[in-house]
Parts: sequence; structure tokens; C-alpha cells
Amino acid sequence: MGKQGNIWNRRFWSWMNTPEMRTDWFVEKQLRAYHSGSTASSIGSAVLIAIMASISAQSGFDPLAAAGLLTFAGFAAVRQIRSSAYRRHESQIAKMAERVWIIRHSAISGVAVAVALSSALILPLADMPGIAALVVVAIMLSGSWAIDVIPRAAIGLLMTVAAGSIAAFAMIGTTEALWAAAIVAAFTIFFTAHCMFSFNSFAVRLLRARELLSAASTVQLLLNDYEEHGADWLWETGAQGRIVSPSARFAEVAAHSPAKLEFVRLIDLFDPGHERAILEALLHKGQPFRDVVARLSRDGEEHWWSLSGRPIVDTAGSVTGMRGVATDVSAAKRAEAKVAYMAHYDGLTDLPNRRLFNESLGRALLRRRDGGLAILYLDIDHFKTINDTLGHVIGDEVLKVAAQRIESCLGHQDVVARLGGDEFAVLLASTSAANDAQRIADAIVAAMGAPMFIERQEIIAGVSVGIAQAPDHGDSADALIKNADLALYHAKQTGRGRAALFEIDMHEAMQARRLIEMDLRAALGRDQLELHYQPLVNLESGETTSYEALLRWNHPEQGLIMPASFIPIAEETGHIVQLGEWVIRTALLEVARWPAHLNVSVNLSPVQMRSTNLVPTIVNALAASGVAAQRLELEITETVLMRDTEANLAVLHQLRALGVRIALDDFGTGYSSLNYLRSFPFDKIKIDRCFVDEVDSREDSRAIVRAVTGLAANLGMVTTAEGVEREDQLDELRREGCTEVQGYLLSRPMPVDQIAGRTAPVVAETKPPIAIETARKPGIVRRKAA
Ligand code: C2E
Ligand code: CA
Ligand code: CA
Repeated sequence: MGKQGNIWNRRFWSWMNTPEMRTDWFVEKQLRAYHSGSTASSIGSAVLIAIMASISAQSGFDPLAAAGLLTFAGFAAVRQIRSSAYRRHESQIAKMAERVWIIRHSAISGVAVAVALSSALILPLADMPGIAALVVVAIMLSGSWAIDVIPRAAIGLLMTVAAGSIAAFAMIGTTEALWAAAIVAAFTIFFTAHCMFSFNSFAVRLLRARELLSAASTVQLLLNDYEEHGADWLWETGAQGRIVSPSARFAEVAAHSPAKLEFVRLIDLFDPGHERAILEALLHKGQPFRDVVARLSRDGEEHWWSLSGRPIVDTAGSVTGMRGVATDVSAAKRAEAKVAYMAHYDGLTDLPNRRLFNESLGRALLRRRDGGLAILYLDIDHFKTINDTLGHVIGDEVLKVAAQRIESCLGHQDVVARLGGDEFAVLLASTSAANDAQRIADAIVAAMGAPMFIERQEIIAGVSVGIAQAPDHGDSADALIKNADLALYHAKQTGRGRAALFEIDMHEAMQARRLIEMDLRAALGRDQLELHYQPLVNLESGETTSYEALLRWNHPEQGLIMPASFIPIAEETGHIVQLGEWVIRTALLEVARWPAHLNVSVNLSPVQMRSTNLVPTIVNALAASGVAAQRLELEITETVLMRDTEANLAVLHQLRALGVRIALDDFGTGYSSLNYLRSFPFDKIKIDRCFVDEVDSREDSRAIVRAVTGLAANLGMVTTAEGVEREDQLDELRREGCTEVQGYLLSRPMPVDQIAGRTAPVVAETKPPIAIETARKPGIVRRKAA
């Protein structure tokens, strides 16, 4: 308000000559106003001239009056010409020159016109001073009115006309003439004051308008800048929430032309939904709001705008619309969504992750009324091997294919998630009966059993599944997850590639496992471990050439525990390294007391192979026992050649360099490949019991045994058949060219005191076969890879 207040408070005189009034801009406005009044002024002048001419004519021709009239008419004509020229060539006119002309000539012309009028009027009307005074007042009125925008000229004119006419009336000297002079003087004061007032309001109006204009243009400039360079834009709505004069930027972001955008309802730009409803309510209520985010689709792309606004209130206090700023927050929204997505989805398979799975499960449990619900826990069999042998790229592809295959077995209500690594979980949102879940789990197992073709490789990756159902196996997420996991563990323990439904026994089994885990740590120190020995017999000579050391655990409560029940646990906990070292030392110390032709085989776990202590342990044990390295044979399985192959081969070569012999155990299980026989010069191949078992009844088993013995003979390796239980097998193995046999038929593993000092019995002497224990308990069968 500062500047405007100044304008209103100015004194008149200072108004006549303020710095603003000397600016080109003001003078130009003045000139425009002056010239625009010229036509009216010319008509007025013409009427005046006609009246004066008729008055003069009545009193006879007076050359002075005629000259005065002509002069007056001349000035009026000049003004008319200049004004029309000004209007025609407004922009080309040199404003300063015009200004100088006006300033100079208006004063001169004012005086000249006054003189001319006085002589033209007063003199002929000397005998009618009343009429003369009236005419003078009329002249003063029209003259000052015509040039009131140039107050100096107007006042000059008024003063001169007044001075001239008052002088003329004084010269006439009659009472009437003196009254006329007094009237003219009074009107002069009145007109002068009026002239100044009217100029004042003219100037104030102009200057105030200019100030407003410049303020507005400053704001406009700022706004333009804001809109062009900022990320934000302004919006305004009028009646019924329709957009009012949208800016170019607004139109651009809304992907409409401004013309089209105008009259669109602001709210109609947004997609229906929760956010739009909030915005609509706020706009409708005419309440101020901040940072309300709403979604809109534009060119098939999703956008998010954040809007702030406040009501436009008219002078009567009613809300006529809303006005505010908007900004496109799509990038931030998308980033936010991405983060949210990453927090809930697995990047590789695009499946929900553990967190989302748990959330979905929690919700499903809440929704579940009487209906059933099941979860499946899945673990890809041999995934680690696939990853290690074929690389992570193929491993990742296997996971993606697995994700697709699992999904293909599910309904659209079901959720499959990747929990991490090779673990997946499925939420079967509605299963009416236990067999539904079992059926779906079996379908997944079947689907996963089919070979995958990845980068021209055929890969077979099975899956093991654990199933838990609500409410039978728990009605909380935690209980269900734990039980599905237990069932999965059971499925893996019992051969993989299958689905197991949770059973309460599994808890007990797990409990027992935990106990074993704890007790095993103490077993060594408490002297609960011992080695049993099972002979390996040469088929040709029938003589025992060596004994395989097999670990036994004398548990104080559970009795004799077989290795299958505790070695996998020891491998998982890493305890096997310590146990294995004990086995090596003990076996060598015992063998030291045997006849020199009897050798010993010791089983090595893949976990032990990774221990840097392995080679020193063996070297020390050999030295401590005094047993020749050639009498020690180490049995390793194929898994050793599948993982960390390079490092493991290096260790095997070091051991072999010591003179220790290396045997490949359980050949034919796992990812068996005859290639492994070429990767290391093994001394012996032990053909797994699963082939020996049917060698007397199945041609394919026979063919495999034949192929292995043939290849081994060519490579200079000994072949040992494991698990020989029947005479028929023995005959068949002999026929296929096997070197050695091992099995219950010949001898069960036995405590060391039963061997010490004894030489091997010949095969023939063992007839009839020793009463063979009925089939071993399933729990102690070493798990074989499918
Ligand atoms: P393995 O190395 O294949 O050992 C042979 C297993 O087959 C032994 O089971 C043996 O008792 C059993 N067996 C031998 N002949 C017959 C037969 O005619 N019929 C049947 N049904 N089974 C027969 P055991 O002693 O229970 O050992 C199981 C597995 O535990 C071993 O399989 C071996 O992998 C592992 N193991 C045993 N001792 C050790 C050890 O000191 N260290 C390591 N790392 N593993 C060991
Ligand atoms: Ca073995
Ligand atoms: Ca074996």
C-alpha cells in the first residue's frame, strides 16, 4: 500500500510536477487524453465561433473582433489537425517533441485564444455585459475542459481569459460590467480549482493503474518463471469446480490443450479411487488443503499429482472457487512403489518374498472361518549342486523355471512366494480336505520332476515339499510355518522328490534330533564312540584284504546309534571334522596291531575335505601309529567331486602323494557319471548296494555293474561290490569281473576285538551264509540322493 498511499496523499501543487509526471510514459498518457478530446473540443469551438460570429455580426463588422475569431478558429483547427495526426501515427510520433510543443504552445495558445476571444467577444458585447460574462464563462468551461489534462495550459487559458475579460469589463466601467467582472472572477477560481482536481484524479488514476499494472506484471513474471522452470504449476477452479484459465504448463502436464482444459472439472482429470474421493470432498467443501496426492492416467501411463489449494473468497465472503499449486510426484511415487515392491517381492522370480508371504498368511488366517487353509514349504533338491557345478546363471534360471512350474499347479487365489535361496512356499487359501493340499503338492513334485532345458543343458531338479494345514496342524502362522518346515525336513530325510504331510511324530523326531545334536558334542569326551570293522574280501582268493571302519555311538540311554542317525547332523553342525579326525587316529592305532597284510578304509565326509586340518591330521596319525601310508584307504563320495572340485582334487592329490589310497564310495548314486572316474585316478570304485541288490535279478543292474568293472579294469582300478547279502549276487559279481566284495553275506561290521590278530576266512568257509538280520531299520539307511 505504501506507494498508493503516497499518491493519494500528495498535495495538488506537488502533483503538477512530480518526477512521475515528467516521465515519457506519463506525458504520453497526457497527450493521448489531450488529443482524444480534440473532436469534442473542435465541435465546441465551432459552435462557439458560430455564436460569436452571429453576435459580432449583429453589432456590425468589427475588424478586431473578426481577427480574434479567426485567430481562435485557427488555433482550434491546428489542434484538430495535430490531434488527428497524433491518433493516426501514435507510435511514430516523437513524443518528446510533441510534449515540448504542447507545453510551449498550449500556454501560448491559451493566452492567444484568450486575447482573441476577449477582443472578439467583449468588445462587440460592451453594452450587454451579462451576456458577455455568460459567453466568457462558457469559453472558460469548454477551454479548460478541453485541455484540463495539461493543467498549465488550462490554467494559463483560464487566467488569461479572466484577466482579459475582467480588464475589458473594467474598461467598460458600468455597474453591470463590474458585476460581470466579479462573476468571471468567481468562475475563474472555481474552474481553476476544478481543473486541478480533475487533473489530480486523472494523474492519480493513471499512476495507480500503473502501479497495479506493474505489480501485476511482476507477479505475472514471477509466475511465468515459476511455471516454466519449476516442477509445479498453478491451478484455479471456478463455478462447479471447472478449471479457469489454465496455464500452458498445466495444459502440458494434463496433456490437453488449454482451450480444452478450460471448463473441464478439475476432479475429472483424476482416476476414480480413494485419493480422488478425498480430493473431491476437499474441493467441494472449499477447505484449504495441502499435499493431497491423486492418481491420473495420461497416455496410458500412471501419474501422481500432489495438490495444495485454498478457497477463493469474494467480497461478500462466499467461496467462488479454489486456487493452488500442483506438482507431479510420479517419480517419487514410483520410487516409493519400487521400494515397497522390493520389500515385498523377490527380484529374481518376481514372486512375493517371505515378508509378503507371512503377511498374506496372517490375513488368510484371519479371513479363514471354517474353511481349510494349507501351506506348502518347498525346497529344490540338489540345488546347491546345480549351482556349484553349472554356475549361478543356470542356478538362477532353474529358480525361475521352478517358480513358473509351481505357479502352474496353483489356482489364482493361491500364493507362491520365494522365501530365499531355493526355498519356496505356497499358501493354498482354501482347501477343503487334507488330500487337496496333498494332491496339489504331488502335482508340484511331478511338474518339478520333468527335465528343464536351460542353455542347451538338460537339468533335472526335483523338489521336496512339506505340508501343514490349518486348523489341524496349528491355527497360527508361526505354528503352520514351523510344522510345514518340519514336514519338509521329513520329506528330505526320506528320500527327497516327495511331499510329506505334517505328523505330530515329526516334532518328536525333531526333538530327538536336537537331543542328538547336543549329546554328540559330549560323545567324544565321554568315550561313547567306537569303530566297527567290516571286511572287504577278494573274490578270487577269498581272502580279507582290508576292513572298512564304521563309526558307532554307544549312547547311554538310546543304546547303539548307527551313523545314518548322527553323521548327517554332525555334518550340518560341522562336528564331523572332529569326529572324523578321531576316526582316522583310532583306526590307524588299531590297525597298527593287525597283521601287516590287512589294510583299513576310512570314510571321509565332504565337509572334512574342506578342513585345512585334514592332511596334517592324516600325516600325524600315520606317524603316531607307525602304519604305512599304503595300508590306509580313504573313501570319498561323488559329491566331493561336484562341489569345490578344484580344491578337493588338490587335497586328493596331496593325500595320494603321501601313498594313501583313494576309493570312490557309493558309486552309482547321486549325480553319478562315469566322467568322475576320469577326473581322478582312483584306486578303487565301490559299486553301491542299490546295483548289487538286483544284480542277480535285473539285466540293467547287471549291465551297469559290467560297464563299471570293465571301465575300472581299463583304468587299473579295483572294483568292490557293496552290500552283498546273497550267494546268487556273489556268483553274478564274480562273473561280471568284480575284484572285491563286502556285505552281510561275508560279515557284518564287528567290534575290533573280534578281528584282532585274525586272518580272513575264505569265502567258501562262510557257507552257509550267516543268518542275516532282517532288513535294516529305515531310519538308519544312509540317505541316497535320488
Ligand atoms: P557306507 O560307507 O556305504 O558303509 C557301508 C554301510 O553299509 C554300512 O552301514 C554297513 O553296515 C552297511 N552294509 C554293509 N554290508 C551290508 C549289507 O550286506 N546289507 C546292508 N543292508 N547294509 C550293509 P553303516 O555302518 O550304518 O554306515 C552307514 C554310512 O555311514 C556309511 O555308508 C558311511 O557313509 C557312513 N559312515 C560310517 N562311518 C563313518 C565315518 O567314520 N565317517 C564318515 N564320514 N562316515 C561314516
Ligand atoms: Ca564307505
Ligand atoms: Ca558305500
